Amino acid sequence: MQKGNIGVTTENIFPIIKKFLYSDHEIFLRELVSNAVDATQKLKTLASLGEFKGELGDLTIHVSIDKEKGALTISDHGVGLTAEEIDKYINQIAFSGANDFLEKYKNDANAIIGHFGLGFYSAFMVASKVEIVTKSYQEGAQAVKWSCDGSPEFTLEDSEKEDRGTDIILYIDEESKEFLEESRVSTLLKKYCSFLPVPIAFGKKKEWKDGKQVDTDEDNIINNTTPIWTKKPSELTDEDYKNFYRELYPMSDEPLFWIHLNVDYPFHLTGILYFPKIKSNLDLNKNKIQLYSNQVYVTDSVEGIVPDFLTLLHGVIDSPDIPLNVSRSYLQSDSNVKKISTYITKKVSDRLQSIFKNDRKQFEEKWNDLKIFINYGMLTQEDFYEKAQKFALLTDTDGKYYTFEEYKTLIKDNQTDKDGNLIYLYASNRDEQYSYIEAAVNRGYNVLLMDGQLDVALVSMLEQKFEKSRFTRVDSDVVDNLIVKEDKKGEALPADKQEALSEAFKSQLPQLEKVDFHVTAQPLGEHNAPILITQSEYMRRMKEMANIQAGMSFYGEMPDMYNLVLNSDHALIKKVLSEEESDCGKTLEPIRKEMEEIAARREELRKAQEGKKEEEITTAEKDTLNELDNSYNDLQDKKKEVYASYARENKVVKQLIDLALLQNNMLKGEALTNFIKRSIELI
Ligand code: ADP
Repeated sequence: MQKGNIGVTTENIFPIIKKFLYSDHEIFLRELVSNAVDATQKLKTLASLGEFKGELGDLTIHVSIDKEKGALTISDHGVGLTAEEIDKYINQIAFSGANDFLEKYKNDANAIIGHFGLGFYSAFMVASKVEIVTKSYQEGAQAVKWSCDGSPEFTLEDSEKEDRGTDIILYIDEESKEFLEESRVSTLLKKYCSFLPVPIAFGKKKEWKDGKQVDTDEDNIINNTTPIWTKKPSELTDEDYKNFYRELYPMSDEPLFWIHLNVDYPFHLTGILYFPKIKSNLDLNKNKIQLYSNQVYVTDSVEGIVPDFLTLLHGVIDSPDIPLNVSRSYLQSDSNVKKISTYITKKVSDRLQSIFKNDRKQFEEKWNDLKIFINYGMLTQEDFYEKAQKFALLTDTDGKYYTFEEYKTLIKDNQTDKDGNLIYLYASNRDEQYSYIEAAVNRGYNVLLMDGQLDVALVSMLEQKFEKSRFTRVDSDVVDNLIVKEDKKGEALPADKQEALSEAFKSQLPQLEKVDFHVTAQPLGEHNAPILITQSEYMRRMKEMANIQAGMSFYGEMPDMYNLVLNSDHALIKKVLSEEESDCGKTLEPIRKEMEEIAARREELRKAQEGKKEEEITTAEKDTLNELDNSYNDLQDKKKEVYASYARENKVVKQLIDLALLQNNMLKGEALTNFIKRSIELI
């Protein structure tokens, strides 16, 4: 029997393993089962090269629990180890700068294990004692037993073992008793080992007998050794892909599309990506892409490996070339990983492009589910935009689909303004903006429906990408002004009539929280609506962006600003105006007169002060000017009050305002009740 010290330069590796790898203890099982798989694959390779001539036999790897002994055992029938090999591969763990490295990566078990090649030693995260009982495939090999209780001392002695292969026996420590529970181990095997290429048995298949679950003689194989991503696409049917999806995510709806990835050069990568059907935002993060390395599950956080927008996809990626056992920050700067990311983006866009080309109908049918991926991709990834602009679709309010190019052609003739800008009209809510959509459509315009989660951002982006183009929401102005084709020649009202109308209406507007109205009168034609509410495209969009983007809260805090537009051509508005003029005329006359006088005196004083320096103007002069300003403002208020008291008695003014508010879903509570009462009175 041989005794020795494990070749570690640090004092004692085991406390380190235990102490630093506290977070991911469970991965010991992945490491040990993968070692068993490797040993089995090596034997198969040797057999195929003719270097191993014996019987391969049943190569199933067995994982078993012995609760009495407190042991978890992983047994394989692979190449096994000779005493010399144990010495070389297990005893001599040489590493330098260990402490520094451990400090740095103490929360990242993968990085540590990868760095030190510590796969086997991860056993000590959960075991107080580990034994290796092994017999090499080589002819006449002597079975050996290695044993170590977590101190740097080990023993190595000859042993008895009938078959070739290795048993790793873990005596589970006090804190890790969970790994002796069948259900826990079963869950772990499912997570890490579901697609390993060698059959793995855990216990026996069970059946119901006399109302109880009892073991059968048959091994319970927990893995699928040939998952479909390892096969050629030509060997697979749609049903295979769908079944595999169901195997991965049993609770999900059928996927929309899938993409089979398969590269050999300049890196190895296989996998299947699915476009899921997303029912709500909650689904977005639930089923993630799983990353495998030679069929060993590694992680489901693939950020950095696949482009951000594709993390919304589902499926598996398998690549032995992704440096799995390193930290995330390293991963993101790795050039191989960058290439992989570029490749996946290209494959995804090629596939979408081909579905679009070959089956546009299907593509359109699925567009509503697809657009979140495609729009997100276009927004975040320049190279994806370049490709996607050929197949990304715009939808109009009639439910028709257009590519960017097609849409441009459609609206070019009728929606170019006087400055040569192409105006894309859109609605963000078909019901709420119904009357505006109707007005625009009656005018011969086409209106896009932009009601997706990402459309606010998309509108801004497309506006920058498209040349000489602007996006304007249908309710951002009166239909006449949506696309200005020639300079206005219509008769605007003179200033005093403008004022009379806007003051009357302004005085009767309800006080809404965080809402400001700007009231104007415009000649919109006698057949158009008498009154309407619009919201400036610019301000609205700034506020929308503020909701989705940090650093713009200034806009978010501002009130919503609306324009209340009175149609001075409409009979009702004309009537209000003429009544108002005759009603208020007498009262206003002296006020107007006084205001004119004050204005004239003010003008005089200002003229006299022109060219003087600040210190040359006397206090008395300043005071007079101030007084004049004050009395002018008082008169202004008086005038407003005259208009207001007229408007207060005028049911038409109130009724018109309420109708406009109602149309914009802004008439609520008491105001709504008052409206209904007044309507009944008017009838
Ligand atoms: P790695 O697998 O990264 O090389 P490990 O610490 O997991 O590092 O294993 C060290 C070595 O021990 C392996 O390279 C392999 O040669 C040997 N080994 C581990 N487990 C087995 C096994 N079940 N059968 C045969 N050899 C094994």
